Amino acid sequence: MKAVYSPIYCIPLPERHPFPMEKFPELHRILLEESLLSKEDVVIPEEVDWEDLRLVHTDEYLEKLREGKLSVLEQRRMGLPWSEILIKRSRTAVSGTILATGLALEEGIAAHLAGGTHHAFADRGEGYCVLNDVAVGIRRLQRAGKIERALVIDLDVHQGNGTASIFEEDPSVYTFSVHGERNYPIRKSTSDRDVGLPDQVGDDGYLEALQLHLPEVIEEADPDLICYLAGVDVVEGDRFGRINLTREGLRRRDRYVLETVKQTGIPLTLLLSGGYAKTPTHTADLHATVHREAAEVFANGALQG
Ligand SMILES: [Zn+2]
Repeated sequence: MKAVYSPIYCIPLPERHPFPMEKFPELHRILLEESLLSKEDVVIPEEVDWEDLRLVHTDEYLEKLREGKLSVLEQRRMGLPWSEILIKRSRTAVSGTILATGLALEEGIAAHLAGGTHHAFADRGEGYCVLNDVAVGIRRLQRAGKIERALVIDLDVHQGNGTASIFEEDPSVYTFSVHGERNYPIRKSTSDRDVGLPDQVGDDGYLEALQLHLPEVIEEADPDLICYLAGVDVVEGDRFGRINLTREGLRRRDRYVLETVKQTGIPLTLLLSGGYAKTPTHTADLHATVHREAAEVFANGALQG
């Protein structure tokens, strides 16, 4: 499987900042070491044009990002201090998702070893998310006439509030979010389908809910492309998650999504989203789960049968 990655994804943050930047190079290393990825299959993105960002984001917000004019409050809400390198990194990650979605259409499945920054709204950043890469990726493909409809399967433990808000009035993009009901964001946006789960729901309750909804969601969405935000903050011991899947539960979740999507033959893009385990290496190891499962599920190619 082709995977998009850039070393720029890991940028310096203030000391003791909770965001695990090192998870990106660690995931890249683990996938190469486990031969889940070969060097020839790594695609390196450049920064996305500001013009493409206007497909999703407001001019006022983009101007603030470009000129470094975010207020202290806006930066606090974003959870990341503004810097030139942060903006370069964020633009590169959007470009990464654009590349990965395009590759998924060509190859049936492709991955971005970053992205899924689903708390970014059209006019603001939130929760460690600056730009909404998935929204820009989908709108780019729609503008190019390569897809009409898309489905976002967002299984990060936090609701995909930015993505839901961006596409709320857009019937061509179906947003599906399974998340902790009591977790951040306290004020949820409205996805096309939201499944809010109780704290400590555990493996069986989680998988039951997912299996109840996913086949119906795919049928209702009838997409030309699926973006899977496979956040790993659902796993027990996560600093911000609270719904406590085991590692085996995470493996079953990813396996179920991959097998269900493969049966449909719809192109699939894998994206990271969140994960806040004890160490960045541990987090990266959890992010590798979906790649381990994809290697088996898609062993005979992306198309059905
Ligand atoms: Zn999250």
